[in-house]
Amino acid sequence: MTKELFLEELQKALYQVSGKDIKDASDRELYIGLGTLLKENIGKNFSGRNKLYRDEHVKQVFYLSMEFLTGTFTKKNLQYLGLYDIAKEAFAELNRPLEKILDEEEDPGLGNGGLGRLAVAFLDSLASLKMPGHGYGLRYEKGLFKQVIYENKQLELPDDWVHNANIWEFKREDESYEVQIGGRIDISGFRNKLIFTHVDYDRVKAVPYDIPMLGYKNNAVNYLRLWSAESYEDIDFREFAKGNFQASFKNIIKAKTITQFLYPEDSNIEGKKLRLKQEYFLVSASIQDLVKKYKDEGLPLADFYKYRVIHINDTHPVLAIPELMRVLIDENYMEWEDAWEITTKTFGFTNHTILSEAMERWNIDLFKEILPRIWMIIEEINHRYIYFLKNEKGIAEGEMLDKLSIISDGQVRMVNLAIAGSFSVNGVAELHTNILKEKVLNDFYNVYPEKFNNKTNGIVHRRWLLNANSELSSFIQKLIGDEFISNPLALEGLLQYTDDSNVLKELANIKHHNKERLVKYVYDTQGIKLSPYSIFDIHIKRIHEYKRQLLNILHIMYLYERLKQNPNLDIVPRTFIFGGKAAPGYHTAKEVIRLINSVANVINSDLTIKDKLKVVFIENYNISNAEILFPAADISEQISTTTKEASGTGNMKFMMNGAITLATLDGANVEISGEVGEDNIIIFGLKSHEVYEYYENGNYNALDIYNSDKELKSVVDKLISKDSITGYETFGELYDLLTKYNDTYFVLKDFDSYRLAHERINDLYRDFHRWNRMSLINIAKSGIFSSDNTIKKYAEEIWNIKPIGNR
Ligand SMILES: *Cc1c(COP(=O)(O)O)cnc(C)c1O
Repeated sequence: MTKELFLEELQKALYQVSGKDIKDASDRELYIGLGTLLKENIGKNFSGRNKLYRDEHVKQVFYLSMEFLTGTFTKKNLQYLGLYDIAKEAFAELNRPLEKILDEEEDPGLGNGGLGRLAVAFLDSLASLKMPGHGYGLRYEKGLFKQVIYENKQLELPDDWVHNANIWEFKREDESYEVQIGGRIDISGFRNKLIFTHVDYDRVKAVPYDIPMLGYKNNAVNYLRLWSAESYEDIDFREFAKGNFQASFKNIIKAKTITQFLYPEDSNIEGKKLRLKQEYFLVSASIQDLVKKYKDEGLPLADFYKYRVIHINDTHPVLAIPELMRVLIDENYMEWEDAWEITTKTFGFTNHTILSEAMERWNIDLFKEILPRIWMIIEEINHRYIYFLKNEKGIAEGEMLDKLSIISDGQVRMVNLAIAGSFSVNGVAELHTNILKEKVLNDFYNVYPEKFNNKTNGIVHRRWLLNANSELSSFIQKLIGDEFISNPLALEGLLQYTDDSNVLKELANIKHHNKERLVKYVYDTQGIKLSPYSIFDIHIKRIHEYKRQLLNILHIMYLYERLKQNPNLDIVPRTFIFGGKAAPGYHTAKEVIRLINSVANVINSDLTIKDKLKVVFIENYNISNAEILFPAADISEQISTTTKEASGTGNMKFMMNGAITLATLDGANVEISGEVGEDNIIIFGLKSHEVYEYYENGNYNALDIYNSDKELKSVVDKLISKDSITGYETFGELYDLLTKYNDTYFVLKDFDSYRLAHERINDLYRDFHRWNRMSLINIAKSGIFSSDNTIKKYAEEIWNIKPIGNR
């Protein structure tokens, strides 16, 4: 497409959108016009690609996830279509900078963090590798809340993203399904068969909205189908006529509630009725859709697993397993044994966490009430599964059998169901998978060793390198060509420059420019002035005790104290940057946010040390500001309590942008360390076996450490002593967790080693050559963490799907 043609098409789109001449259109209208133009371009490939999959009966994967943290689409799609430069020129000619038009788009907040982002990374890589794979999720009307910091505390504001003109969806009302919730089951007999009839249930209409997922410059278009819950019923006019307006809307509201909001917890949502309805709503609509489209291809149901593979992102969508059983048995009259064989050959399952509070369980009573038929099916699955364990695996009645059981203690255990009903169970980093096999899911591993495998997470290098850090990627192209764009492992070609001082100098320049960009963002959004000459030390991720933002801020308090005592202390100036949301109900995490901001206020306004220390909390961490943060980092804080972070993907984004990782040997940090070598990463803290030894022996004593390390004690005491460093605020709960409750996350234990690691950073940073050499090696070794690599492994080792060329 030429610039002229682009402008012509944009004008046509604008006539359609707002009946206006380009010159009179607002930014918003131009943005919607641009979306219309692009959708028209994509539409043909979208339908063609899916027709191809149908006509050739291609095996396809469907990724079910309660979260998809997409980030914005428009810029990415322009790039993937190869239209970015043309669009940029065209808008420049109109005197309307493209970047400003793109600012009209907001991040859909359809995910909490890493799990939701991974789902999107996978869809991106599937399309970019021309593989047939799609996503199913929920179209929450209110995304995750918007975070604002007010008086040092997190406030949660609603995020009305849907009403901000989402140009990227196709609503397909005529492909809606009915999802049945509540009610009871009537059982009758017919020709020696039991017939189960669901009666008195609430009908909820699942309406799909498809978002096209483009491959990178390859014309492949897959989709992400998001379900919206709507009512079959209209306003109740009898109530309306009586003036009972609220009552007249009751049914509509009841149905719509299901996809109103995303649960903002990253764990522990057990017992929330609405959450269970959401989970079932997602899987019921998706499974009905999958089976219908499969049958439309004219293939026999008995072969379902040969053409479809369904992957569940953690246990949240695990009810897809009994739901497929229900559809096969109740709606397609299949025998149990046949249905079970098909089902267990269809599902793959990824576990994302070992935190026991995040292992989903549902009370039986709640379960029966909301999903009576699914409950019956799970009971039967469990019945047969227990029989199998006893008779084929020789497991006797007792504790072990009870641990393996899907139903126990009045609860349905979702992990157990997922393992029993899937052919593959994977962890998300080597250490995590080993912990699953040897500790957390060891009993299951002994029963089904063949199901367990590792697939280390990955990130979209196109977004986090090409798009977020265009200056760095242009420089890389100048050095080693553009092969790394399609084959990220080719980044290793950079290793030939590890001692080229001109290259290292340029690398440092680029980092400096990216830091300046962040300095501007922080100034524009929060009015704080930062110096790009200081070390940018960045800790961005959900706020959680195991991620240990507390360790970081305590160390900052310690540094500040030292500076107060000795203003001439010889340290490289530091800027500590935090970002991340806390679940609104997670009080401890919110206290950590309050502590960070209280300390930041004091430090940033202290003129006696001001050039040596700054602390910033970035409000509302999301994909869009993440794209400014990762490229600007010198230090990547990956300091979770060892064994607790399953993989992490933030760590990979930092590495790819040349930051040096400061880390515990947890999650994928272990693999990062293996890639770059010990000299190019800064490791501290307990090792996983040490953590497990403490657990097994119960001999960790936080008070011993507190009492023996004077400087540490003095910092911890400031949490309750109305000290100036906290702005005279107190943090009794945090103090108690560290001292009275024996510091579950080993913050005190790791403090000293963390402090020494920071001293090492101070020395390393002063060696310009050494530092930038480390940075270069990190970039060079980051290609393996591209989600393209991850997806190739899923495709070959789990899904058995292949790239499909265009016809
Ligand atoms: C990558 C990413 C995450 C995950 O970060 P971790 O450090 O792996 O926890 C969360 N939120 C956003 C916006 C991200 O881009």
